Amino acid sequence: MEIRQTVEIRVRGTVQGVGFRPTVWRLACDEGLVGEVLNDGFGVLIRTTGNSGAISQFLTRLNNEAPPLSQIEDIETHVLNLLDFEDFRIAESIAGENCTRITPDAAICDACRAEVLDPKERRYSYPFANCTHCGPRFSIVKEVPYDRVNTTMSDFPMCADCKSEYLQPADRRFHAQPIACPTCGPTIWLEKMETNGTSPHLAPLDSAIELLKSGKVVAIRGLGGFHLACDATNADAVQRLRQRKHRYGKPFALMARDLDVIRRYCNLTPVHAELLQSPEAPIVLIPADGPEKLPHGIAPGLNAVGFMLPYTPLHLLITQQIDQPLVMTSGNISDEPQVTSLDRARSGLRGIADAMLMHNREIANRIDDSVVRIVAGKPSLIRRARGYAPSAVALPSGFDGAPDLLAFGGELKATFCVLKDGAAILSQHQGDLEDVSTFEDYQKNLHLYSKIYDHRPRMLVADMHPEYLSAKLAKQRAGDDKLPLLEVQHHHAHIASCMVENGIALDSPPVLGIAIDGLGFGGDGTIWGGEFLLADYQSYRRVAAFKPVAMVGGVQAIREPWRNTYAHLVAAQGWSQFAENFSTLDLYRYLSAKPLKTIDRMLETGLNVPLASSCGRLFDAVAAALGLCADHALFEGQGAMELEALAEKWPSSPDEEPYNFAINEAGGLLYLESLPMWQALLEDLGRQAPVPQMALRFHYGLARAIRDMVARIRGMRWANSLNTVALSGGCFQNKLLLEEVVRLLETDGLRCLLHAKVPSNDGGLALGQAAIAAARHINTGSSEFSL
Ligand SMILES: [Zn+2]
Ligand SMILES: [Zn+2]
Repeated sequence: MEIRQTVEIRVRGTVQGVGFRPTVWRLACDEGLVGEVLNDGFGVLIRTTGNSGAISQFLTRLNNEAPPLSQIEDIETHVLNLLDFEDFRIAESIAGENCTRITPDAAICDACRAEVLDPKERRYSYPFANCTHCGPRFSIVKEVPYDRVNTTMSDFPMCADCKSEYLQPADRRFHAQPIACPTCGPTIWLEKMETNGTSPHLAPLDSAIELLKSGKVVAIRGLGGFHLACDATNADAVQRLRQRKHRYGKPFALMARDLDVIRRYCNLTPVHAELLQSPEAPIVLIPADGPEKLPHGIAPGLNAVGFMLPYTPLHLLITQQIDQPLVMTSGNISDEPQVTSLDRARSGLRGIADAMLMHNREIANRIDDSVVRIVAGKPSLIRRARGYAPSAVALPSGFDGAPDLLAFGGELKATFCVLKDGAAILSQHQGDLEDVSTFEDYQKNLHLYSKIYDHRPRMLVADMHPEYLSAKLAKQRAGDDKLPLLEVQHHHAHIASCMVENGIALDSPPVLGIAIDGLGFGGDGTIWGGEFLLADYQSYRRVAAFKPVAMVGGVQAIREPWRNTYAHLVAAQGWSQFAENFSTLDLYRYLSAKPLKTIDRMLETGLNVPLASSCGRLFDAVAAALGLCADHALFEGQGAMELEALAEKWPSSPDEEPYNFAINEAGGLLYLESLPMWQALLEDLGRQAPVPQMALRFHYGLARAIRDMVARIRGMRWANSLNTVALSGGCFQNKLLLEEVVRLLETDGLRCLLHAKVPSNDGGLALGQAAIAAARHINTGSSEFSL
């Protein structure tokens, strides 16, 4: 029997600033309910009176018809004493405790796009149109609650028309905080570095478009920072931009008007297309195998290019008028963070851009474009920023008692992680902290997050590396604030981050973690980077590793990859044996011309030649042996990326013999030994095998070696129930390697945990650090593994 009742409904998740209350209002009115809905510090609160049947119908529809940018995590209902309401209304927000959910920025929605392109609309050609389903969010937030006064839109009082849309629950812009129009909102203008160039009578947008078409470089203030743009099909313009920006090796991201333009250069799969058109609108790495070719300077040495679609009305209006793709690279100088402010653009980008398309909506949070690659048919984030951050990563079951804490992340591709009220908020990509201004920006953002989330951590977490700036800062902060500091091993954090995003429960049995990357500080004080760890959240046991090889000159070995080739050859077979057998090789002549005496002396004395079990350095060594980036790498991993790109060019065939690795044991640890691989590779070099073929054999060989190592580990007495493998670390951004490893391990009946929403590179470390610290806090009783 239907009874009339009053129910209080608490909705948690990402439910503010996404059009949630109007949806509630519409559904409640549809179902004939009376009551009220409001935002408070915990999410959305609804009190409603009506027939029990109507209320339950309302709840079902709320789940099914929630607005596109919302994410409901939890709905709780309580029956109250019967309350009388006249109608259903949207009540004033209650500023309560700060909310842990801020919505990421979202790409322009179809309705706003149509409006901006329609001459009959009042927002025709307006670069800042947005609504509750799209537009700026995190990039303009200064404080919570998320209301206009707490965003950088506070400088723009609404006009009467906007105000009336803002107040209409049935309007798409009801309570859209960044609402704006040509009458009241932000404006654009163009600043030219030289007075000549464009007609003085053109509007800023048209001038910018004219400059771009004529091969000029235009700095464009966007959503989360400045871009530098030029015609991507103009090789001279691309080259000029590289020279002025001092960016020589790293690929440039592109923006194109629509999928049809991208299809001229790339064969798009439905997965690519869906991702490009999603509200997150990331840069998607796509094989450049379409009918038309882009200039070499776009992505030197690589097969894939990074494309994105216009995600703001400003970008839409620019690309509408241009048939070519545009380079749309971060507006910065070499490794510094992307420029956000007008002043910094005027001073910093002056020598790079021919003109600057400016606007006056301030950027509160710098946020780069996210980068995604499709691996094993699924999106996998390489850089997590715009569109994804700061949405919370759900912690798996068992983490309910997690304390509020702050994890400082790593050093390169740094992020940090705020753990609050059981939600893990991983910051947007910050960059490489060794750059002074990036480190300053990282500290600024730490402060900003603590303010936005009203975060008072009870514990700090950092990497074990004594030289990481993030770890030093954490130490200092722990001292100043008298907080406990937990140092977490680098590769354990990688594995834990992979476990978290795969929802592995806190009390699950250990997995076998395979973490391969450039380098991280090892549990024994040496450098690790090719690790097989038996791990759960609380602890790990190193069971196998790549055989350590000297890094000649420390970090110098990263910049000059030939040093790794030499060190690997010396470690594998000794120089004299190499000279004896392979003196006819170009590689022998090439290396002989290097200052080997000095290097040998360093190796003898052990001065500045740290041993590293690094997979990244092995890739460097092999790439350099094949002539890729041998003298200099312009960025870490360049050789590995080019090696992968070459290997992809060789037709994969079951007849392709993988290079062999050996497995040895020493001191209770299994080692992956590369001597047989080098023998086979040098013989291939001797018979002048095609470089792509050798690159493929190396990839297949390494994948098989990893599989063999896993099989060997599973053969041990203690490991017979081990059935899950977690794959993490920057080297698993190599699609060819990852897909082959997964194929082999799954053939052996193993379950593989992969990264998707959190990068496998050091951008994911902070999440793993947070999980490990929380696990140890929750479950202080348990101990190390007994094997
Ligand atoms: Zn919209
Ligand atoms: Zn207006």
